[in-house]
Amino acid sequence: MLLDPNHYDPAHLDDETRRLLRATVDWFEARGKRQLIADAQDKVWYTEFLDFVKQEKLFATFCTPSSVDGTKRWDAARNAAFSEVLGFYGLQYWYAWQVTVLGLGPIWMSSNEEAKQKAATLLDSGAVFAFGLSEKEHGADVYSTDMIVTPTENGYTATGGKYYIGNGNVAGMVSVFGKLADSDEYVFFAVDSRHENFHLVKNVVDSQMFVSEFRLDDYPLTDADILHRGPDAFSAALNTVNVGKFNLCTASIGICEHSFYEAITHAHNRILYGNPVTDFPHVRQNFVDAYARLTAMKLFADRSVDYFRSAGENDRRYLLFNPITKMKVTSEGEQVIDLLWDVIAAKGFEKDTYFTRATADIRALPKLEGTVHVNLALVLKFMPNYLFNPKSYDEVPTRHDATDDDFFWHQGPARGLGKIQFHDWEPIYREHAHLPNVKLFHEQAEAIKTLLTKAAPDEAQQKDLDFLLNLGHLFTLVVYGQLVLEQAKITGTDDSVLDQIFDVLVRDFAGYATALHGKASSTEAQQQWAIGQIRKPHADQDRFNAVWQQVEALSGRYEMRP
Ligand SMILES: Cc1cc2nc3c(=O)[nH]c(=O)nc-3n(C[C@H](O)[C@H](O)[C@H](O)COP(=O)(O)OP(=O)(O)OC[C@H]3O[C@@H](n4cnc5c(N)ncnc54)[C@H](O)[C@@H]3O)c2cc1C
Repeated sequence: MLLDPNHYDPAHLDDETRRLLRATVDWFEARGKRQLIADAQDKVWYTEFLDFVKQEKLFATFCTPSSVDGTKRWDAARNAAFSEVLGFYGLQYWYAWQVTVLGLGPIWMSSNEEAKQKAATLLDSGAVFAFGLSEKEHGADVYSTDMIVTPTENGYTATGGKYYIGNGNVAGMVSVFGKLADSDEYVFFAVDSRHENFHLVKNVVDSQMFVSEFRLDDYPLTDADILHRGPDAFSAALNTVNVGKFNLCTASIGICEHSFYEAITHAHNRILYGNPVTDFPHVRQNFVDAYARLTAMKLFADRSVDYFRSAGENDRRYLLFNPITKMKVTSEGEQVIDLLWDVIAAKGFEKDTYFTRATADIRALPKLEGTVHVNLALVLKFMPNYLFNPKSYDEVPTRHDATDDDFFWHQGPARGLGKIQFHDWEPIYREHAHLPNVKLFHEQAEAIKTLLTKAAPDEAQQKDLDFLLNLGHLFTLVVYGQLVLEQAKITGTDDSVLDQIFDVLVRDFAGYATALHGKASSTEAQQQWAIGQIRKPHADQDRFNAVWQQVEALSGRYEMRP
Protein backbone atom coordinates (compact mmCIF):
# COMPACT_ATOMS: atom_id res chain seq x y z
CA MET A 1 0.00 0.00 0.00
CA LEU A 2 2.81 2.43 0.80
CA LEU A 3 5.32 3.82 -1.69
CA ASP A 4 8.41 1.65 -1.21
CA PRO A 5 11.58 3.03 -2.86
CA ASN A 6 13.23 -0.40 -2.67
CA HIS A 7 10.68 -1.76 -5.13
CA TYR A 8 9.37 1.39 -6.71
CA ASP A 9 7.90 0.85 -10.15
CA PRO A 10 4.69 2.71 -11.01
CA ALA A 11 3.60 0.00 -13.43
CA HIS A 12 0.40 1.83 -14.34
CA LEU A 13 2.43 4.50 -16.19
CA ASP A 14 4.31 4.47 -19.51
CA ASP A 15 7.96 3.39 -19.76
CA GLU A 16 9.55 6.84 -20.02
CA THR A 17 7.52 8.17 -17.07
CA ARG A 18 8.51 5.12 -15.02
CA ARG A 19 12.13 5.72 -15.87
CA LEU A 20 11.95 9.37 -14.83
CA LEU A 21 10.14 8.63 -11.58
CA ARG A 22 12.56 5.85 -10.76
CA ALA A 23 15.48 8.18 -11.59
CA THR A 24 14.06 10.73 -9.15
CA VAL A 25 13.81 8.15 -6.38
CA ASP A 26 17.36 6.99 -7.18
CA TRP A 27 18.65 10.57 -7.10
CA PHE A 28 17.31 11.11 -3.59
CA GLU A 29 18.48 7.72 -2.35
CA ALA A 30 21.97 8.29 -3.77
CA ARG A 31 22.12 11.71 -2.16
CA GLY A 32 21.28 9.98 1.10
CA LYS A 33 19.48 10.81 4.29
CA ARG A 34 22.37 12.53 6.06
CA GLN A 35 22.91 15.00 3.22
CA LEU A 36 19.20 15.61 2.74
CA ILE A 37 18.75 16.41 6.41
CA ALA A 38 21.92 18.53 6.63
CA ASP A 39 20.81 20.60 3.62
CA ALA A 40 17.42 21.14 5.21
CA GLN A 41 18.97 22.14 8.53
CA ASP A 42 21.42 24.52 6.87
CA LYS A 43 18.68 25.87 4.57
CA VAL A 44 20.79 25.22 1.51
CA TRP A 45 19.19 26.26 -1.79
CA TYR A 46 18.74 23.04 -3.79
CA THR A 47 21.09 23.68 -6.72
CA GLU A 48 22.01 20.00 -7.17
CA PHE A 49 18.35 18.99 -7.27
CA LEU A 50 17.60 21.66 -9.87
CA ASP A 51 20.63 20.49 -11.86
CA PHE A 52 19.16 17.00 -11.85
CA VAL A 53 15.77 18.44 -12.92
CA LYS A 54 17.51 20.24 -15.76
CA GLN A 55 19.58 17.25 -16.85
CA GLU A 56 16.55 14.94 -17.00
CA LYS A 57 14.24 17.72 -18.27
CA LEU A 58 11.92 16.64 -15.50
CA PHE A 59 9.77 19.74 -15.07
CA ALA A 60 9.74 20.29 -18.85
CA THR A 61 8.52 16.76 -19.48
CA PHE A 62 5.87 16.74 -16.75
CA CYS A 63 4.67 20.33 -17.14
CA THR A 64 4.44 21.16 -20.84
CA PRO A 65 1.06 20.56 -22.50
CA SER A 66 1.13 18.83 -25.87
CA SER A 67 -0.63 21.83 -27.42
CA VAL A 68 2.59 23.77 -26.79
CA ASP A 69 5.09 20.99 -27.56
CA GLY A 70 3.75 17.87 -29.25
CA THR A 71 6.54 15.71 -27.81
CA LYS A 72 5.35 16.34 -24.24
CA ARG A 73 2.10 16.21 -22.28
CA TRP A 74 0.45 17.39 -19.08
CA ASP A 75 -0.86 14.26 -17.42
CA ALA A 76 -2.41 14.51 -13.97
CA ALA A 77 -1.96 10.78 -13.27
CA ARG A 78 1.81 10.90 -13.58
CA ASN A 79 2.02 14.33 -11.95
CA ALA A 80 0.28 12.79 -8.94
CA ALA A 81 2.94 10.07 -8.77
CA PHE A 82 5.71 12.68 -9.10
CA SER A 83 4.20 14.85 -6.38
CA GLU A 84 4.02 11.87 -4.01
CA VAL A 85 7.69 11.02 -4.62
CA LEU A 86 8.78 14.62 -3.97
CA GLY A 87 6.68 14.81 -0.78
CA PHE A 88 8.20 11.50 0.32
CA TYR A 89 11.69 13.03 0.29
CA GLY A 90 10.97 16.58 1.40
CA LEU A 91 8.34 19.26 1.06
CA GLN A 92 10.99 21.82 0.05
CA TYR A 93 11.77 19.90 -3.14
CA TRP A 94 8.09 19.44 -3.83
CA TYR A 95 7.52 23.18 -3.35
CA ALA A 96 10.01 24.17 -6.08
CA TRP A 97 7.97 22.02 -8.46
CA GLN A 98 4.59 23.07 -7.10
CA VAL A 99 5.11 26.79 -7.58
CA THR A 100 6.45 26.04 -11.05
CA VAL A 101 3.11 24.33 -11.77
CA LEU A 102 1.27 27.39 -10.44
CA GLY A 103 3.44 29.85 -12.33
CA LEU A 104 2.79 27.98 -15.57
CA GLY A 105 -1.00 27.90 -15.06
CA PRO A 106 -1.80 31.45 -16.22
CA ILE A 107 0.66 31.02 -19.11
CA TRP A 108 -0.81 27.78 -20.45
CA MET A 109 -4.32 29.25 -20.01
CA SER A 110 -3.41 32.33 -22.01
CA SER A 111 -3.89 32.95 -25.73
CA ASN A 112 -0.50 34.67 -25.77
CA GLU A 113 1.41 32.21 -27.98
CA GLU A 114 4.69 34.10 -27.65
CA ALA A 115 4.62 33.80 -23.86
CA LYS A 116 3.81 30.10 -24.12
CA GLN A 117 6.74 29.42 -26.44
CA LYS A 118 9.03 31.39 -24.18
CA ALA A 119 7.88 29.39 -21.17
CA ALA A 120 8.38 26.08 -23.00
CA THR A 121 11.91 27.07 -24.02
CA LEU A 122 12.75 28.17 -20.49
CA LEU A 123 11.37 24.93 -19.04
CA ASP A 124 13.48 22.93 -21.46
CA SER A 125 16.54 24.82 -20.31
CA GLY A 126 15.82 23.85 -16.70
CA ALA A 127 14.13 27.03 -15.42
CA VAL A 128 11.63 27.10 -12.57
CA PHE A 129 8.60 29.38 -12.41
CA ALA A 130 6.64 31.38 -9.82
CA PHE A 131 3.06 32.41 -9.16
CA GLY A 132 2.61 35.95 -7.82
CA LEU A 133 -0.91 36.14 -6.46
CA SER A 134 -0.64 36.82 -2.70
CA GLU A 135 0.10 40.22 -1.21
CA LYS A 136 1.20 41.08 2.28
CA GLU A 137 -1.86 43.04 3.28
CA HIS A 138 -4.58 41.06 1.51
CA GLY A 139 -4.24 37.28 2.09
CA ALA A 140 -7.24 35.43 0.63
CA ASP A 141 -8.80 38.74 -0.47
CA VAL A 142 -7.18 38.81 -3.88
CA TYR A 143 -9.83 41.27 -5.11
CA SER A 144 -7.98 44.03 -3.26
CA THR A 145 -4.71 43.76 -5.16
CA ASP A 146 -2.35 46.74 -4.96
CA MET A 147 -0.24 45.61 -7.91
CA ILE A 148 -1.02 48.36 -10.38
CA VAL A 149 -0.35 48.20 -14.13
CA THR A 150 -0.32 51.62 -15.77
CA PRO A 151 -0.54 52.11 -19.55
CA THR A 152 2.32 54.17 -21.05
CA GLU A 153 3.20 55.29 -24.56
CA ASN A 154 5.13 52.11 -25.33
CA GLY A 155 3.19 49.60 -23.24
CA TYR A 156 2.76 49.55 -19.50
CA THR A 157 4.61 49.71 -16.22
CA ALA A 158 3.84 47.60 -13.17
CA THR A 159 4.34 48.77 -9.59
CA GLY A 160 3.50 46.96 -6.37
CA GLY A 161 4.57 44.25 -3.95
CA LYS A 162 3.97 40.51 -3.72
CA TYR A 163 4.45 38.35 -0.65
CA TYR A 164 4.87 34.59 -0.06
CA ILE A 165 5.92 33.92 -3.66
CA GLY A 166 7.86 30.67 -4.03
CA ASN A 167 10.92 30.57 -6.34
CA GLY A 168 10.86 34.39 -6.57
CA ASN A 169 14.66 34.32 -6.22
CA VAL A 170 15.33 32.47 -9.47
CA ALA A 171 12.13 32.06 -11.52
CA GLY A 172 12.56 32.38 -15.28
CA MET A 173 9.03 33.76 -15.48
CA VAL A 174 6.84 34.99 -12.65
CA SER A 175 3.10 35.16 -13.41
CA VAL A 176 1.84 38.22 -11.57
CA PHE A 177 -1.76 39.20 -10.77
CA GLY A 178 -2.75 42.87 -10.59
CA LYS A 179 -5.10 45.58 -11.76
CA LEU A 180 -5.02 48.01 -14.70
CA ALA A 181 -4.86 51.58 -13.44
CA ASP A 182 -7.11 53.06 -16.14
CA SER A 183 -9.95 50.53 -16.25
CA ASP A 184 -9.68 48.81 -12.85
CA GLU A 185 -9.72 45.51 -14.77
CA TYR A 186 -7.76 42.55 -13.44
CA VAL A 187 -4.64 41.55 -15.35
CA PHE A 188 -2.14 38.69 -15.32
CA PHE A 189 1.30 39.37 -16.73
CA ALA A 190 4.71 37.73 -16.78
CA VAL A 191 7.94 39.20 -15.41
CA ASP A 192 11.53 38.03 -15.19
CA SER A 193 12.97 37.74 -11.68
CA ARG A 194 16.40 38.82 -13.04
CA HIS A 195 15.13 42.16 -14.42
CA GLU A 196 16.60 45.24 -12.71
CA ASN A 197 13.12 46.56 -11.84
CA PHE A 198 12.30 43.30 -10.03
CA HIS A 199 13.47 43.81 -6.44
CA LEU A 200 13.83 40.72 -4.32
CA VAL A 201 13.22 41.92 -0.77
CA LYS A 202 13.70 38.75 1.29
CA ASN A 203 12.85 35.14 1.95
CA VAL A 204 9.79 35.32 4.21
CA VAL A 205 10.39 31.86 5.72
CA ASP A 206 13.31 30.25 7.50
CA SER A 207 13.74 27.31 5.16
CA GLN A 208 15.53 25.74 2.22
CA MET A 209 12.72 26.88 0.00
CA PHE A 210 12.59 30.51 -1.04
CA VAL A 211 9.19 32.07 -0.32
CA SER A 212 9.90 35.56 -1.52
CA GLU A 213 8.74 39.05 -0.94
CA PHE A 214 9.39 41.08 -4.06
CA ARG A 215 8.55 44.51 -5.43
CA LEU A 216 8.11 45.72 -8.97
CA ASP A 217 9.00 49.37 -9.43
CA ASP A 218 7.95 50.76 -12.81
CA TYR A 219 8.63 47.34 -14.30
CA PRO A 220 8.28 47.84 -18.08
CA LEU A 221 5.81 45.56 -19.90
CA THR A 222 4.60 45.19 -23.46
CA ASP A 223 1.60 43.32 -24.82
CA ALA A 224 3.91 40.33 -25.24
CA ASP A 225 4.01 40.08 -21.43
CA ILE A 226 0.25 40.31 -20.86
CA LEU A 227 -1.35 36.91 -20.24
CA HIS A 228 -4.97 37.79 -19.37
CA ARG A 229 -7.20 40.82 -18.83
CA GLY A 230 -10.54 41.41 -17.14
CA PRO A 231 -12.67 38.50 -15.89
CA ASP A 232 -10.35 36.06 -17.68
CA ALA A 233 -7.50 37.16 -15.43
CA PHE A 234 -9.53 36.41 -12.34
CA SER A 235 -10.67 33.04 -13.71
CA ALA A 236 -7.03 32.24 -14.59
CA ALA A 237 -6.09 32.79 -10.94
CA LEU A 238 -8.82 30.46 -9.66
CA ASN A 239 -8.39 27.89 -12.42
CA THR A 240 -4.64 27.76 -11.84
CA VAL A 241 -5.23 27.08 -8.18
CA ASN A 242 -7.68 24.33 -9.25
CA VAL A 243 -4.86 22.64 -11.14
CA GLY A 244 -2.21 23.23 -8.50
CA LYS A 245 -4.01 22.53 -5.30
CA PHE A 246 -4.54 18.88 -6.12
CA ASN A 247 -0.78 18.36 -5.64
CA LEU A 248 -1.05 19.18 -1.96
CA CYS A 249 -2.86 15.93 -1.20
CA THR A 250 -0.26 13.74 -2.90
CA ALA A 251 2.54 15.63 -1.14
CA SER A 252 0.77 14.95 2.13
CA ILE A 253 0.51 11.26 1.26
CA GLY A 254 4.24 11.08 0.50
CA ILE A 255 5.10 12.74 3.82
CA CYS A 256 2.88 10.30 5.73
CA GLU A 257 4.32 7.26 3.96
CA HIS A 258 7.93 8.05 4.76
CA SER A 259 6.99 8.92 8.34
CA PHE A 260 5.03 5.70 8.70
CA TYR A 261 8.07 3.57 7.93
CA GLU A 262 10.19 5.41 10.48
CA ALA A 263 7.49 5.24 13.13
CA ILE A 264 6.56 1.57 12.86
CA THR A 265 10.19 0.46 12.57
CA HIS A 266 11.08 2.41 15.70
CA ALA A 267 8.07 1.42 17.79
CA HIS A 268 8.09 -2.25 16.83
CA ASN A 269 11.75 -2.63 17.76
CA ARG A 270 11.64 -0.64 20.97
CA ILE A 271 11.40 -2.84 24.03
CA LEU A 272 9.79 -1.42 27.17
CA TYR A 273 9.23 -3.54 30.28
CA GLY A 274 10.42 -6.57 28.28
CA ASN A 275 7.96 -6.21 25.39
CA PRO A 276 7.77 -4.31 22.09
CA VAL A 277 5.96 -0.97 22.41
CA THR A 278 3.58 -2.23 19.74
CA ASP A 279 2.19 -4.79 22.22
CA PHE A 280 0.28 -1.98 23.93
CA PRO A 281 -3.33 -2.02 22.70
CA HIS A 282 -3.52 1.77 22.44
CA VAL A 283 -0.33 1.82 20.35
CA ARG A 284 -1.82 -0.75 17.97
CA GLN A 285 -5.00 1.30 17.81
CA ASN A 286 -3.01 4.41 16.83
CA PHE A 287 -1.15 2.52 14.11
CA VAL A 288 -4.27 0.84 12.75
CA ASP A 289 -6.14 4.17 12.69
CA ALA A 290 -3.19 5.89 11.00
CA TYR A 291 -2.98 3.10 8.42
CA ALA A 292 -6.73 3.24 7.75
CA ARG A 293 -6.62 7.02 7.37
CA LEU A 294 -3.60 6.89 5.07
CA THR A 295 -5.20 4.21 2.92
CA ALA A 296 -8.36 6.32 2.62
CA MET A 297 -6.26 9.34 1.63
CA LYS A 298 -4.69 7.34 -1.17
CA LEU A 299 -7.96 5.84 -2.38
CA PHE A 300 -9.68 9.22 -2.47
CA ALA A 301 -6.77 10.95 -4.20
CA ASP A 302 -6.42 8.20 -6.83
CA ARG A 303 -10.09 8.26 -7.70
CA SER A 304 -10.12 12.05 -7.88
CA VAL A 305 -7.49 11.90 -10.61
CA ASP A 306 -9.98 10.01 -12.80
CA TYR A 307 -12.56 12.78 -12.40
CA PHE A 308 -10.01 15.54 -13.06
CA ARG A 309 -8.78 13.89 -16.20
CA SER A 310 -12.30 13.16 -17.44
CA ALA A 311 -13.58 16.66 -16.75
CA GLY A 312 -15.00 18.86 -19.48
CA GLU A 313 -17.54 21.60 -20.04
CA ASN A 314 -20.35 19.14 -19.31
CA ASP A 315 -18.73 17.39 -16.39
CA ARG A 316 -17.37 19.71 -13.74
CA ARG A 317 -17.65 17.30 -10.79
CA TYR A 318 -13.91 17.74 -10.24
CA LEU A 319 -14.69 21.14 -8.74
CA LEU A 320 -16.09 19.40 -5.66
CA PHE A 321 -13.54 16.59 -5.45
CA ASN A 322 -10.64 19.01 -5.85
CA PRO A 323 -11.18 21.15 -2.70
CA ILE A 324 -11.72 17.90 -0.79
CA THR A 325 -8.32 16.59 -1.87
CA LYS A 326 -6.92 19.92 -0.77
CA MET A 327 -8.72 20.37 2.51
CA LYS A 328 -9.69 16.89 3.69
CA VAL A 329 -6.82 14.71 2.51
CA THR A 330 -4.20 17.16 3.80
CA SER A 331 -6.01 17.49 7.15
CA GLU A 332 -6.07 13.71 7.36
CA GLY A 333 -2.32 13.83 6.80
CA GLU A 334 -2.00 15.93 9.95
CA GLN A 335 -4.03 13.33 11.84
CA VAL A 336 -1.80 10.52 10.61
CA ILE A 337 1.34 12.30 11.77
CA ASP A 338 -0.27 13.13 15.14
CA LEU A 339 -1.25 9.48 15.70
CA LEU A 340 2.26 8.28 14.85
CA TRP A 341 3.95 11.02 16.87
CA ASP A 342 1.93 10.21 19.98
CA VAL A 343 3.50 6.76 19.80
CA ILE A 344 7.10 7.53 18.89
CA ALA A 345 7.13 10.62 21.10
CA ALA A 346 10.73 11.76 21.77
CA LYS A 347 12.04 9.99 18.66
CA GLY A 348 9.99 12.40 16.56
CA PHE A 349 12.20 15.28 17.75
CA GLU A 350 15.51 13.74 16.77
CA LYS A 351 17.34 15.84 14.23
CA ASP A 352 18.47 12.91 12.08
CA THR A 353 14.96 11.67 11.38
CA TYR A 354 12.74 12.48 8.42
CA PHE A 355 9.88 12.49 10.92
CA THR A 356 10.91 15.63 12.72
CA ARG A 357 10.66 17.63 9.50
CA ALA A 358 7.38 15.96 8.66
CA THR A 359 5.84 17.21 11.91
CA ALA A 360 6.18 20.79 10.64
CA ASP A 361 5.74 20.21 6.92
CA ILE A 362 2.49 18.30 7.25
CA ARG A 363 0.92 21.36 8.91
CA ALA A 364 1.62 23.56 5.89
CA LEU A 365 -0.52 21.74 3.38
CA PRO A 366 -4.02 22.42 4.77
CA LYS A 367 -3.15 26.10 5.09
CA LEU A 368 -1.72 26.92 1.68
CA GLU A 369 -3.56 27.64 -1.58
CA GLY A 370 -6.72 28.42 0.30
CA THR A 371 -7.18 27.54 3.93
CA VAL A 372 -9.40 24.73 5.22
CA HIS A 373 -12.14 27.33 5.77
CA VAL A 374 -11.99 28.71 2.26
CA ASN A 375 -12.16 25.22 0.76
CA LEU A 376 -14.96 24.13 3.07
CA ALA A 377 -16.97 27.21 2.10
CA LEU A 378 -16.47 26.11 -1.51
CA VAL A 379 -17.53 22.54 -0.78
CA LEU A 380 -20.80 23.76 0.77
CA LYS A 381 -21.91 25.27 -2.54
CA PHE A 382 -22.24 21.77 -3.98
CA MET A 383 -24.16 20.19 -1.11
CA PRO A 384 -27.80 20.68 -2.22
CA ASN A 385 -27.36 19.22 -5.71
CA TYR A 386 -25.05 16.46 -4.53
CA LEU A 387 -27.51 15.22 -1.91
CA PHE A 388 -30.87 15.90 -3.52
CA ASN A 389 -30.51 16.27 -7.26
CA PRO A 390 -28.31 13.55 -8.81
CA LYS A 391 -27.86 13.09 -12.53
CA SER A 392 -26.67 10.12 -14.51
CA TYR A 393 -23.25 10.23 -16.17
CA ASP A 394 -21.27 7.63 -18.08
CA GLU A 395 -19.07 5.71 -15.68
CA VAL A 396 -15.68 7.43 -15.30
CA PRO A 397 -12.97 4.80 -15.84
CA THR A 398 -9.54 4.68 -14.28
CA ARG A 399 -7.46 7.27 -16.11
CA HIS A 400 -3.85 6.14 -16.28
CA ASP A 401 -3.70 6.57 -20.06
CA ALA A 402 -0.74 8.51 -21.46
CA THR A 403 -2.84 11.40 -22.78
CA ASP A 404 -2.74 15.15 -22.37
CA ASP A 405 -5.15 16.93 -19.99
CA ASP A 406 -5.97 19.85 -22.24
CA PHE A 407 -9.20 20.83 -20.45
CA PHE A 408 -7.18 22.18 -17.51
CA TRP A 409 -6.29 25.19 -19.69
CA HIS A 410 -9.88 25.78 -20.83
CA GLN A 411 -11.87 25.47 -17.63
CA GLY A 412 -13.91 28.58 -18.41
CA PRO A 413 -15.44 31.03 -15.95
CA ALA A 414 -15.40 29.88 -12.34
CA ARG A 415 -19.17 30.45 -12.01
CA GLY A 416 -22.28 28.34 -11.55
CA LEU A 417 -20.86 25.93 -9.00
CA GLY A 418 -24.24 25.43 -7.31
CA LYS A 419 -25.69 24.19 -10.61
CA ILE A 420 -23.22 21.33 -11.05
CA GLN A 421 -24.85 17.93 -10.65
CA PHE A 422 -23.31 14.66 -9.47
CA HIS A 423 -23.94 11.00 -10.05
CA ASP A 424 -25.99 9.36 -7.31
CA TRP A 425 -23.71 8.81 -4.32
CA GLU A 426 -25.84 6.12 -2.67
CA PRO A 427 -25.51 3.03 -4.93
CA ILE A 428 -21.80 2.57 -4.11
CA TYR A 429 -22.66 2.66 -0.40
CA ARG A 430 -25.44 0.10 -0.92
CA GLU A 431 -23.06 -2.14 -2.88
CA HIS A 432 -20.82 -2.28 0.19
CA ALA A 433 -23.59 -2.77 2.75
CA HIS A 434 -22.14 -6.19 3.63
CA LEU A 435 -19.39 -4.28 5.47
CA PRO A 436 -20.95 -3.33 8.81
CA ASN A 437 -19.20 0.00 9.18
CA VAL A 438 -20.01 1.08 5.63
CA LYS A 439 -23.65 0.30 6.39
CA LEU A 440 -23.51 2.29 9.62
CA PHE A 441 -21.81 5.21 7.95
CA HIS A 442 -24.34 5.19 5.13
CA GLU A 443 -27.09 5.61 7.75
CA GLN A 444 -25.27 8.60 9.20
CA ALA A 445 -24.74 10.05 5.71
CA GLU A 446 -28.42 9.67 4.83
CA ALA A 447 -29.28 11.47 8.04
CA ILE A 448 -27.77 14.68 6.62
CA LYS A 449 -30.73 14.72 4.25
CA THR A 450 -33.06 14.50 7.25
CA LEU A 451 -31.22 17.33 8.94
CA LEU A 452 -31.53 19.53 5.85
CA THR A 453 -35.22 18.80 5.34
CA LYS A 454 -36.50 18.61 8.94
CA ALA A 455 -34.15 20.85 10.91
CA ALA A 456 -32.46 22.95 8.26
CA PRO A 457 -30.27 25.91 9.27
CA ASP A 458 -32.50 28.94 9.84
CA GLU A 459 -31.89 32.33 8.27
CA ALA A 460 -29.41 33.43 10.94
CA GLN A 461 -27.53 30.12 10.80
CA GLN A 462 -27.27 30.42 7.03
CA LYS A 463 -25.19 33.54 7.61
CA ASP A 464 -23.19 31.95 10.41
CA LEU A 465 -20.09 30.53 8.70
CA ASP A 466 -18.97 28.86 11.93
CA PHE A 467 -22.15 26.79 12.00
CA LEU A 468 -22.08 26.13 8.25
CA LEU A 469 -18.45 25.03 8.17
CA ASN A 470 -19.26 22.34 10.70
CA LEU A 471 -22.03 21.16 8.39
CA GLY A 472 -19.43 21.29 5.62
CA HIS A 473 -17.23 18.85 7.54
CA LEU A 474 -20.14 16.39 7.89
CA PHE A 475 -20.98 16.68 4.19
CA THR A 476 -17.33 16.30 3.17
CA LEU A 477 -17.19 12.94 4.93
CA VAL A 478 -20.01 11.64 2.71
CA VAL A 479 -18.21 12.59 -0.51
CA TYR A 480 -14.95 11.28 0.91
CA GLY A 481 -16.51 7.90 1.68
CA GLN A 482 -18.07 7.72 -1.77
CA LEU A 483 -14.80 8.04 -3.69
CA VAL A 484 -12.97 5.81 -1.24
CA LEU A 485 -15.54 3.09 -2.00
CA GLU A 486 -15.37 3.68 -5.75
CA GLN A 487 -11.60 3.31 -5.76
CA ALA A 488 -11.69 0.35 -3.37
CA LYS A 489 -14.01 -1.39 -5.80
CA ILE A 490 -11.72 -0.66 -8.75
CA THR A 491 -8.59 -1.85 -6.96
CA GLY A 492 -10.10 -4.68 -4.91
CA THR A 493 -9.06 -3.22 -1.57
CA ASP A 494 -9.11 -5.78 1.19
CA ASP A 495 -12.44 -5.82 3.08
CA SER A 496 -10.75 -5.68 6.49
CA VAL A 497 -8.98 -2.45 5.64
CA LEU A 498 -12.07 -0.97 4.02
CA ASP A 499 -14.29 -1.72 7.00
CA GLN A 500 -11.59 -0.34 9.31
CA ILE A 501 -11.59 2.89 7.28
CA PHE A 502 -15.33 3.21 7.85
CA ASP A 503 -14.87 2.44 11.54
CA VAL A 504 -12.82 5.67 11.56
CA LEU A 505 -15.36 7.58 9.46
CA VAL A 506 -18.27 6.57 11.73
CA ARG A 507 -16.33 7.99 14.70
CA ASP A 508 -15.41 11.13 12.79
CA PHE A 509 -19.01 11.72 11.79
CA ALA A 510 -20.07 11.36 15.42
CA GLY A 511 -17.35 13.86 16.37
CA TYR A 512 -18.61 16.54 13.97
CA ALA A 513 -22.20 15.83 15.05
CA THR A 514 -21.12 16.46 18.65
CA ALA A 515 -19.53 19.73 17.56
CA LEU A 516 -22.77 20.73 15.82
CA HIS A 517 -24.67 19.95 19.02
CA GLY A 518 -22.37 22.29 20.89
CA LYS A 519 -22.68 25.25 18.50
CA ALA A 520 -24.17 28.27 20.23
CA SER A 521 -27.02 28.57 17.75
CA SER A 522 -28.00 24.87 17.40
CA THR A 523 -31.75 24.41 17.84
CA GLU A 524 -33.44 21.74 19.93
CA ALA A 525 -34.25 19.72 16.79
CA GLN A 526 -30.67 19.99 15.55
CA GLN A 527 -29.32 18.90 18.93
CA GLN A 528 -31.60 15.85 18.91
CA TRP A 529 -30.46 15.04 15.41
CA ALA A 530 -26.82 15.36 16.45
CA ILE A 531 -27.22 13.02 19.41
CA GLY A 532 -28.79 10.46 17.08
CA GLN A 533 -25.60 10.44 15.00
CA ILE A 534 -23.37 9.31 17.82
CA ARG A 535 -23.03 5.73 16.68
CA LYS A 536 -20.63 3.08 17.86
CA PRO A 537 -18.63 1.51 15.03
CA HIS A 538 -18.96 -2.23 14.62
CA ALA A 539 -16.12 -3.83 16.58
CA ASP A 540 -14.45 -6.95 15.19
CA GLN A 541 -11.19 -8.14 16.72
CA ASP A 542 -10.36 -10.45 13.81
CA ARG A 543 -10.71 -7.58 11.35
CA PHE A 544 -8.59 -5.34 13.55
CA ASN A 545 -5.91 -8.03 13.84
CA ALA A 546 -5.87 -8.54 10.09
CA VAL A 547 -5.19 -4.83 9.55
CA TRP A 548 -2.61 -4.78 12.33
CA GLN A 549 -0.72 -7.61 10.61
CA GLN A 550 -0.43 -5.45 7.50
CA VAL A 551 0.93 -2.61 9.64
CA GLU A 552 3.36 -4.86 11.50
CA ALA A 553 4.76 -6.16 8.21
CA LEU A 554 5.94 -2.61 7.41
CA SER A 555 8.42 -2.62 10.29
CA GLY A 556 11.93 -2.65 8.81
CA ARG A 557 10.60 -2.66 5.26
CA TYR A 558 12.25 0.62 4.27
CA GLU A 559 14.97 2.90 5.61
CA MET A 560 16.37 5.69 3.49
CA ARG A 561 19.99 5.12 2.47
CA PRO A 562 22.36 6.98 4.80
C1 LIG B 1 5.13 28.71 2.73
C2 LIG B 1 4.14 29.49 1.93
C3 LIG B 1 4.22 29.48 0.55
C4 LIG B 1 3.32 30.21 -0.23
N1 LIG B 1 3.48 30.25 -1.59
C5 LIG B 1 2.71 31.10 -2.33
C6 LIG B 1 3.00 31.34 -3.71
O1 LIG B 1 3.94 30.79 -4.29
N2 LIG B 1 2.22 32.21 -4.38
C7 LIG B 1 1.17 32.86 -3.80
O2 LIG B 1 0.50 33.65 -4.48
N3 LIG B 1 0.88 32.67 -2.48
C8 LIG B 1 1.62 31.81 -1.74
N4 LIG B 1 1.37 31.65 -0.39
C9 LIG B 1 0.25 32.36 0.22
C10 LIG B 1 -0.88 31.43 0.64
O3 LIG B 1 -1.55 30.94 -0.46
C11 LIG B 1 -1.78 32.19 1.62
O4 LIG B 1 -1.11 32.13 2.84
C12 LIG B 1 -3.13 31.59 1.76
O5 LIG B 1 -3.85 31.79 0.57
C13 LIG B 1 -3.96 32.17 2.90
O6 LIG B 1 -3.75 33.52 3.09
P1 LIG B 1 -3.32 34.04 4.54
O7 LIG B 1 -2.45 33.01 5.16
O8 LIG B 1 -2.79 35.40 4.42
O9 LIG B 1 -4.71 34.05 5.36
P2 LIG B 1 -5.81 35.23 5.38
O10 LIG B 1 -6.26 35.47 3.97
O11 LIG B 1 -5.31 36.39 6.16
O12 LIG B 1 -6.98 34.52 6.15
C14 LIG B 1 -7.18 34.62 7.57
C15 LIG B 1 -8.34 33.79 8.00
O13 LIG B 1 -9.56 34.19 7.34
C16 LIG B 1 -10.22 33.07 6.76
N5 LIG B 1 -10.85 33.40 5.47
C17 LIG B 1 -10.39 34.26 4.55
N6 LIG B 1 -11.23 34.29 3.47
C18 LIG B 1 -12.23 33.41 3.73
C19 LIG B 1 -13.39 32.98 3.00
N7 LIG B 1 -13.66 33.45 1.77
N8 LIG B 1 -14.18 32.05 3.58
C20 LIG B 1 -13.91 31.55 4.79
N9 LIG B 1 -12.81 31.93 5.52
C21 LIG B 1 -12.00 32.83 5.01
C22 LIG B 1 -9.09 32.09 6.51
O14 LIG B 1 -9.56 30.78 6.48
C23 LIG B 1 -8.15 32.31 7.69
O15 LIG B 1 -8.54 31.54 8.78
C24 LIG B 1 2.28 30.93 0.40
C25 LIG B 1 2.20 30.95 1.79
C26 LIG B 1 3.13 30.26 2.55
C27 LIG B 1 3.06 30.34 4.03
